[in-house]
Amino acid sequence: MKTDLYVVGIGPGGIEGMTIEAYKVLEKCDVLAGYTTYAELVKDSFPNKEWIVTPMRKEKERCILALESAENGKTTAMICSGDSGIYGMAGLILELSKDYSNVNVRVIAGVTAAASGAAVLGAPLMHDFCCISLSDWLTPMEKIEKRLRMAAEGDFVICLYNPSSRVRKDYLKRACEILLETLDENTACGVVRNIGREGEMSELMTLGRLKDYEADMFTTVFIGNKTTELDDVRKIMLTKRGYDTK
Ligand code: SAH
Repeated sequence: MKTDLYVVGIGPGGIEGMTIEAYKVLEKCDVLAGYTTYAELVKDSFPNKEWIVTPMRKEKERCILALESAENGKTTAMICSGDSGIYGMAGLILELSKDYSNVNVRVIAGVTAAASGAAVLGAPLMHDFCCISLSDWLTPMEKIEKRLRMAAEGDFVICLYNPSSRVRKDYLKRACEILLETLDENTACGVVRNIGREGEMSELMTLGRLKDYEADMFTTVFIGNKTTELDDVRKIMLTKRGYDTK
């Protein structure tokens, strides 16, 4: 009989942001695997599990350890923040799993940062939107820049993941400069940091100001479309879907 390897999105932060399905899966697993930071978020809730914890950039090693654990008959979960299929580990696990004949991979959905961050800001994603990661570790910069231009051209609400890191300090600035080729500098924007975690904070601003905003690697950025508005009194970012014209 095959053993299950679950790829589980734990949502933005701790237990509260996790789906009941994800929680139940983690409860029944023998082994939990994950990147150090995410493991820390949920470790206290699952103290009696065997843990496989590896640092960032060791994704392939971590996936192989999880696959081997399941191959050896232990029900295992690979945990990811947000949703495991959105800049997470679901894809790599599925790619690698073809070499593990005793493993049955099952993906469990989670609340991605676009959704949890949008809820903090109000309702910025009410209309067509796209997610773009500014990380050029696995994607060439030219492709990222093209996607930014096309998204602006299409008047999408844009949600930026990975807006910054220690080695990519000025990427958000560059992204804003590209968007400003098409979009007005007064375009409504919002940023959310540490969603669902200690130190959660959000801020509303224009695209002109976002250009000089110092994001970190736990920030998700929202850039509105032509109908998006900021309400500075209620502190919300709102994209109207158009009901008022019907
Ligand atoms: N699988 C994750 C995304 C991983 S990519 C998901 O579905 O949410 C990492 C990026 O996601 C971060 O750089 C940040 O832009 C965003 N992110 C993930 N968790 C976050 C959180 N708790 N608060 C703010 N941004 C977050």
